[in-house]
Amino acid sequence: PTVDTVRSTDGFWDTARRHLIRYGPAGFIPSIIERAEGCHVYDENGRAILDFTSGQMSSLLGHAHPAVVETVSRSIATLDHLFSGMLSRPVVDLAEALSDTLPAQLSKTMILSTGGESNEAAIKMAKLYTGKHEIVSFDQSYHGSTHAAGAATYSLSRAGYGPLAPGNLIITTPNSYRSVFRTADGSHDWQAELDFGFAMVDRQSVGSLAAFIAEPILGTGGLIPPPDGYFAALRKKCDERGMLLIIDEAQTGLCRTGDWYAFQHQGVVPDILTLSKTLGAGLPVSAVVTSDEIEAVCSERRFMFTTTHVSDPLAAAVGLTVVRTLVEGEYDAVARRMGDRLRRGLVELQERHDRIGDVRGRGLFQGVELVMDRGTKEPADDFGTAVTAACFERGLHLNIAQMPGVNSILRIAPPLTISEESLDTGLAILDEALTVARKHA
Ligand code: PMP
Repeated sequence: PTVDTVRSTDGFWDTARRHLIRYGPAGFIPSIIERAEGCHVYDENGRAILDFTSGQMSSLLGHAHPAVVETVSRSIATLDHLFSGMLSRPVVDLAEALSDTLPAQLSKTMILSTGGESNEAAIKMAKLYTGKHEIVSFDQSYHGSTHAAGAATYSLSRAGYGPLAPGNLIITTPNSYRSVFRTADGSHDWQAELDFGFAMVDRQSVGSLAAFIAEPILGTGGLIPPPDGYFAALRKKCDERGMLLIIDEAQTGLCRTGDWYAFQHQGVVPDILTLSKTLGAGLPVSAVVTSDEIEAVCSERRFMFTTTHVSDPLAAAVGLTVVRTLVEGEYDAVARRMGDRLRRGLVELQERHDRIGDVRGRGLFQGVELVMDRGTKEPADDFGTAVTAACFERGLHLNIAQMPGVNSILRIAPPLTISEESLDTGLAILDEALTVARKHA
């Protein structure tokens, strides 16, 4: 339902219709959510709903994690917000703590508020450092709704907002399930796909390639993990052209995929890393991390990126608590262990439900692609909607990744703090929802 179609039981939705700006593609869940704690959100009737979206990927430690609550309460009372030219300890401590989790060359950090903003800053840095302006991305990317990040975003609507930032180019997303690039034995020929993509980039470029911006596992655009080895080959393409590699780990960063960062699994190191959603564990906190060298050159060229909340002490304190909690709880290992359990459950569902075409992902970041027929891979959009509705009725919230033309990919990403019991409950609800929806569609 959208805000226009929710059946009203009290004045809430009527007031919402009168006073809210409508946005985004997804519509609203037809319940008033009053409380959130751990892996659950609670509606106005006290009904518990398991949140397998982690508040759409941000509530990494579950809702209202005690350490985060304590940090916010303490910070708001003692060091809430400062003039952007004043420094405080949480900012410096978070920059140091992040660098301790990263390869040595990623040593310099800037703290901001949102993912879109962190990518704006990263793109500006790449332009200033290279003296060039063209930005290449995947054709199912999502990097934000702001200007430059939005211009490098292709998974959601671009029409109606022109002119976008000039000099944005794309290559096809290496989607092993659907790619048309195949070797003679039918496997995904991702190297040919990458070579073809860069041949097109080279033809279109005006000789000003600044950077490639990529999610290491595409989230919003369909939960698509590029094949092993892909990023090393992509890194090589960037190096050959003097382009920087920006990796956007808004959804994947900070243990979600079973590694601290998803780029580690691909064996590459980005020139610029952006972190957001997961860094704030539900609050607006983001970061841009880069090398001494890039930072020095940008600073020499008078890098300008300032916001009201740059180096915000409260945001930094929250980020620091998140990083420390993840280190102390060894949550990379937790995400591997719970991710294995989730994946085993999903593969087992695939054996019994013929509408599950593909299960993919890493750690607690899994996608389930629903199809009408495994041979033709025809998208099962209405079926997907019926499955998520049946899940919601039974107390599980799942959302659908927005890939153009395919609206039937379930994104399954519960908080890292989820118990085995809640994970199994979610899987059992999904099992039942698949059975119920199959009877009607
Ligand atoms: N990058 C990625 C990979 C994202 O998934 C998102 C949000 N969906 C963003 C950037 C934008 O973050 P924000 O909404 O905080 O601006």
